[in-house]
Amino acid sequence: MACVGLVDGCRTVASVLSDEDWKKVVKLSKCRQVLMPDTKLPAQAKTRRWNGGITRYFSHFPGESPEGYTNTESPEHIAMKVAIYKALVELGIPAELEDGLDDWRADILVGDSAFAPRLAIEVQISTQSAQRTYERTEQRNRSGVPTLWIFGSAGQTGVISEDLARSNPVFVANTPQDAAVIASAVCRGQAFFDDLLQYQKTPARPVALLVNCACGGRWLYPFGSVLLLNRISGETAPMFISCFSTSKVGKGLLATARMRAVERYFDLGMSSVKASAEKYGVGIGQPSKVWHRYGRFGSLETGIRVWERSYSCPACASTPEPLTRGLPKGVALLMCPVPVATTVDARSVLTVKSCWRVYRKDCWVESVMSERRWKDEFIYPLRSAIAQA
Ligand SMILES: [Zn+2]
Repeated sequence: MACVGLVDGCRTVASVLSDEDWKKVVKLSKCRQVLMPDTKLPAQAKTRRWNGGITRYFSHFPGESPEGYTNTESPEHIAMKVAIYKALVELGIPAELEDGLDDWRADILVGDSAFAPRLAIEVQISTQSAQRTYERTEQRNRSGVPTLWIFGSAGQTGVISEDLARSNPVFVANTPQDAAVIASAVCRGQAFFDDLLQYQKTPARPVALLVNCACGGRWLYPFGSVLLLNRISGETAPMFISCFSTSKVGKGLLATARMRAVERYFDLGMSSVKASAEKYGVGIGQPSKVWHRYGRFGSLETGIRVWERSYSCPACASTPEPLTRGLPKGVALLMCPVPVATTVDARSVLTVKSCWRVYRKDCWVESVMSERRWKDEFIYPLRSAIAQA
């Protein structure tokens, strides 16, 4: 199957013809006067119903395709190709369907655009191994042409190395419209590879309680940090990182590696509290060793490790026991109104991955609760727990 046929020696895209012109092409093809662009053998002009519409295409006459010639494209594949082609032509970006250079042919070969002097676009609906994606990309790169890969679903992209992805955009499209938007964004130079480097400087608010110790010392008991990922990119939202309890990390196999991961996580949670303690000239709690217990939810034994760490007075080493039991229930920690104390490298806790994006989602400013409410819901309950202990 092909979207393009040679009519009087001219490449003719079936899907962009008027109904009248298409009828003429059908007639010519019946007289064997239309050719397949790659084999130069007579082409049949045909149609196929798909998704409530008609897909036009060309193919060899039955029994006439050369030996070893395999080109069975799904109507979905054709629809994506054609949608991309039409969108680029509409933008005035030079594009040819089913065209290539040297020893390869792409679904679409794009001429000079904001992305590159030449770009191959491949729509890949059927499963393709990562190895094959690599080989086909390399083949085009040898001709000096990068490839834009548009996969039909996330499961089919395989594992593509970051090196390859940086110069050869990789996207997933669910519909022909998606595919057209992606290709347009790439060719207009709007799409970008998000390497997440900007998250190295994520603003963080400390969540802590100032303890007036019986020994006379004043120190911060750290609970964690609210990382304002939303201020870096609209792809992400604020996140609370605890420095006293987690079941999110420490799941690996090696005991030492597990422990290191938990310590790193707790240290990240503690970072903004540390900065705040320095700024206000008060002490900060001394961390205990990390330990774990097995989590229990309701009556169901989950077997999930919960890692914990507590903190003690830096002067007299006493631990305010009520605080080791955690935070008051139901506090909207993400709305903590305490001023940002520092920036932290948040890349280790991101749920987003480095990948190509069509456009930058604007960052946004989070809303916070009033200081009054913070005191009522967070500070006072903790203070009274210490007082009653
Ligand atoms: Zn003390």
